[in-house]
Amino acid sequence: KRLEDLTVEDTTCGYCAVGCRFDVYTDGDEVLATRPTEPEKSPVNGISTCVKGKFTYDFVDSEGRLTTPLVRDENGEFREASWDEAYERVVEGFQDIKEEYGGSAMSMIASSKATNEENYLMGKFARQVLGTNTVDNCNRLCHSSTVAGLARTYGYGAASVSTEDFEQADAIFLTGSNTTEAHPVLATRIKQHVKDGKELVVFDPREVQIAEYATQYTEVRPGFDQVWINGLVRYIIENDLYDEEFVEERTRGIDQVREAVQEFTPDYVEEVTGVTPEELKSAAETITSNDRVVFGWTLGLTEHSHGTENIMAMANLAAITGNLGKPGTGVSPFRGQNNVQGGGGDMGPLPDNFPGYQSITDEENRKKFEEAWDCEIDPEPGFYTTEMFLAANEDELQGMYCIGENPSLSEPGSNHASEVLEEMEFLVVQDLFLNDTAKYADVVLPACSFLEKTGTFTNTDRRVQMVKQVIDPKGDSKTDWEILQDLANRMGREWDYDNTAEIMEEMRQLTPIYGGITQERVEEEGGLQWPCYDLDHPGTERLYTEEFNTEDGLAHLQAVGYNEPGELPDEDYPLSLTTGRVLYQYHTGTMTHPEEGIQGYNDRDFVEINPEDAADYGIEDGDLVTLESRRGEITVPAQVTARIGSGTVFAPIHFAETCVNKLTDSERLDPHARTPEFKVSAVRVTPV
Ligand code: SF4
Repeated sequence: KRLEDLTVEDTTCGYCAVGCRFDVYTDGDEVLATRPTEPEKSPVNGISTCVKGKFTYDFVDSEGRLTTPLVRDENGEFREASWDEAYERVVEGFQDIKEEYGGSAMSMIASSKATNEENYLMGKFARQVLGTNTVDNCNRLCHSSTVAGLARTYGYGAASVSTEDFEQADAIFLTGSNTTEAHPVLATRIKQHVKDGKELVVFDPREVQIAEYATQYTEVRPGFDQVWINGLVRYIIENDLYDEEFVEERTRGIDQVREAVQEFTPDYVEEVTGVTPEELKSAAETITSNDRVVFGWTLGLTEHSHGTENIMAMANLAAITGNLGKPGTGVSPFRGQNNVQGGGGDMGPLPDNFPGYQSITDEENRKKFEEAWDCEIDPEPGFYTTEMFLAANEDELQGMYCIGENPSLSEPGSNHASEVLEEMEFLVVQDLFLNDTAKYADVVLPACSFLEKTGTFTNTDRRVQMVKQVIDPKGDSKTDWEILQDLANRMGREWDYDNTAEIMEEMRQLTPIYGGITQERVEEEGGLQWPCYDLDHPGTERLYTEEFNTEDGLAHLQAVGYNEPGELPDEDYPLSLTTGRVLYQYHTGTMTHPEEGIQGYNDRDFVEINPEDAADYGIEDGDLVTLESRRGEITVPAQVTARIGSGTVFAPIHFAETCVNKLTDSERLDPHARTPEFKVSAVRVTPV
């Protein structure tokens, strides 16, 4: 068929948080093609999408899709069930836990793949229906330290910029970001910027593909970012290269920072991180000699036992150089999942916050939500996701409702997470697929993909965009919001939403930063960026143009010292393992593994090892090797490459059979954000 003969509808990508918009061409319930929407409807991606946005929709109609609920039979095997029977089992299971142990023994993992409206209901369901504050999501594994660090310094825990700021910047500073593979369309825009003669500085333990475009690439040891960032801050202050006017008028705390960074001399930075004084000086001069700089990062900076300190150090750097609040300046933590900004944070499926980051410990906030939701809310925050698996181990949690997440593979120390899930008294999994976590479930509920529902996602630059249903739900699957509504009503509530616009309406009236955002406006205006306080507010392209979101309107610079990674290489485990993504796969692979068209590119995990280390251990390119930490081991092929520094190895995170999180640690967590230390684990590598 020709494109003109097909049905077409515009929507937002369901993979990453760049938030590309595209038209989807369908024939009945078959998705046949996508094309970027007209540029005015797609300010983020213009005329581009990446390989996932273009080609990876086979998963929607793949054989593995769940099309009917599953319950355990008398032999402990799954059998198909009607929705009625499945709902009855779920309600009975949840109520049994509540009656025997109280609501706080229930936990809920919400889904950053789901829409804002659905995530709002997940937070409401946890507090109103289950009676627990233990609700969290994947942000705990990635950018929660960004949120904690930026909120402490500037007030908001989100990107201050819009994607357009990358093009208006004179220089871009990237760290801990494999942008080409994790945020491909954003990477394309950054590379174009460099081709136009602008500067790009990359600090990273791997010479990631975007580093090939950099005007300066500097290799760093994973786990020591505070040291080189503090070294830059010190160099800039000591050499009077900072923006005195900005610091004087718009910040407080420079004296404490000046004192805290004294020990981070260029020689000390080199000794600890391997960054030479020349590299430090060159980066400092690039940052300070250009008028407009954007600082971007992803999980290389955040997934540490001191991720929040890393972010505060980076926030100090942007602030003392005056790179905030003006076009072409700002901070941009590239968010991972398609809706982790909106669903994972803004909508408040969080143990300590209601929607819009309204703290549950604040009595007025609690009263507002107790009245709106007609329930009592415990003033004590619940457990974060990483803490849930430790608390359940201590019998503090007995039940879990897991939506659109796969914690048996994605949690740190996955052997431990799997044991906890197996021991859980009652576990409900709601997903598109019978994922690895579902093998421990009592009931599995079939959910819909983003192509089968309508709502909104919020991308990495706080832009709320429409998601449109383009095909019918597969089999008997239902949208997350419909399932939550059915369960709430069976558990004594009277939810009566006819569509997700009504959910959005309820949410915005309780959430000041989303106060002016309706689906109607999002559709008409092609997206809206929060904060957007009322129906006449135009939304906010760039944060901190006038003041910071703090009581006194100033940025609060933070004195940051230095914390070692929780586990350093030693005689028994002499290498540092760092983990991440590859372009052709996505997280635990439930969506990308069914994609035949891309399987040939990265059909298994691997480990990258530096040629010097490979020679030391007698490893050749392609050899199968065992990668082992104190917590577990996996066997994968070796890729011998100089793109990884000596002393460090890298492995991706995408396959259950070689789950790299068997090697990571469930207990080393950031003290503020409880983010795990995915980026540094001591390991040894031996040829098989
Ligand atoms: Fe989708 Fe991200 Fe690719 Fe854009 S860059 S098409 S949002 S996966």
